[in-house]
Amino acid sequence: MAGSADFDLYRPAEEHDMLRESVRSLAEAKILPFAAAVDEESRFPQEALDALVSSDLHAVHVPETYGGAGADALATVIVIEEVARVCASSSLIPAVNKLGSLPVILSGSEELKAKYLGPLAKGDAMFSYALSEPDAGSDAAGMKTRAVRDGDFWVLNGVKRWITNAGVSEYYTVMAVTDPEKRSKGISAFVVEKSDEGVSFGAPEKKLGIKGSPTREVYLDNVRIPADRMIGAEGTGFATAMKTLDHTRITIAAQALGIAQGALDYAKGYVQERKQFGKPIGDFQGVQFMLADMAMKVSAARALTYQAAAASERGDADLTYLGAAAKCFASDIAMEVTTDAVQLLGGYGYTRDYPVERMMRDAKITQIYEGTNQVQRIVMARNLP
Ligand SMILES: Cc1cc2nc3c(=O)[nH]c(=O)nc-3n(C[C@H](O)[C@H](O)[C@H](O)COP(=O)(O)OP(=O)(O)OC[C@H]3O[C@@H](n4cnc5c(N)ncnc54)[C@H](O)[C@@H]3O)c2cc1C
Repeated sequence: MAGSADFDLYRPAEEHDMLRESVRSLAEAKILPFAAAVDEESRFPQEALDALVSSDLHAVHVPETYGGAGADALATVIVIEEVARVCASSSLIPAVNKLGSLPVILSGSEELKAKYLGPLAKGDAMFSYALSEPDAGSDAAGMKTRAVRDGDFWVLNGVKRWITNAGVSEYYTVMAVTDPEKRSKGISAFVVEKSDEGVSFGAPEKKLGIKGSPTREVYLDNVRIPADRMIGAEGTGFATAMKTLDHTRITIAAQALGIAQGALDYAKGYVQERKQFGKPIGDFQGVQFMLADMAMKVSAARALTYQAAAASERGDADLTYLGAAAKCFASDIAMEVTTDAVQLLGGYGYTRDYPVERMMRDAKITQIYEGTNQVQRIVMARNLP
């Protein structure tokens, strides 16, 4: 049960408010103008990457020791939220940089941290996370990718599927089976580099939304890497992967929250302009009630997301429950709010001439990745507070 002290800790401080203001103005000036084209052309949002890197917002979670901004979990949420408010695809740059590198931060050796976090912090390299496979999605422990020891090396073979920012990222945290007898306890995590011999990528998936974020298969064909690229001890890779998701599901909640806020803001403006029956449609109580419900849901999703971010920062015992709850709730809200925003724009909302159609398509993925919302409910049920 959260006491009043817990609430103080997740109320944004003045520095969080200042961060939000600066990310919002950057996002509106440098990312929003390209959001529709990035979606329409299904192309990587290079302008967003450049803008985020030049403002040091592409991987804010990296600790200062390794040259990063050392942002806390709530600050990271605010960055992702504000970028997602204008372009969900672009928000996957800071989000997946955290997802890909957190296994190294949580469990990696000092050498691995020094080698891989510096280039990430500088903006010279992005980091992806490769857990899922064609036949291992919700049941991630059923993976088949194999890593076999050969002297001072590990040799990896297998196919990872649905890997966000694959091909663009230089670095990949790859989970692979090192002992097939032990199921989840026989899985280990490794850092694989794009330039390692035997690494290649499939064609980008043709998706419903987040079209600017490349999602591709990663093929590992006799990829021979030094043994010190293993993250943590042998057999701990699955535990690291799950611990990572406890923290990063909150970033998906942030993304969902940002998408919902973007749709709400757009609809709020639209109903004041659009006239029917001789007055702005925002004057009708039926429309006002819809907006009130949308705002109420977004506020509730934000409170839960920030509460989970505070738990992530403190490493609270109820983090697993809160991370799953925030992701599940915020993503369901994002779907509802974006669908209502399309409704409020009527026929115009159903076209690509207005951004709410894109937001509704983008919102859908937040109910699916980093574990579907059915899986989140399983996680919550196993970890009830
Ligand atoms: C655009 C995109 C980007 C992604 N990015 C990444 C990434 O960067 N890295 C990565 O590793 N993965 C990534 N994923 C993979 C994503 O996490 C999986 O798609 C997701 O976990 C679901 O797995 P699946 O697609 O195999 O669905 P399945 O596991 O086949 O699920 C199908 C349906 O069955 C339901 N279901 C399954 N098991 C249960 C159960 N026990 N109880 C109730 N319902 C159940 C699911 O909820 C779902 O509705 C991405 C996926 C997409 C689409």
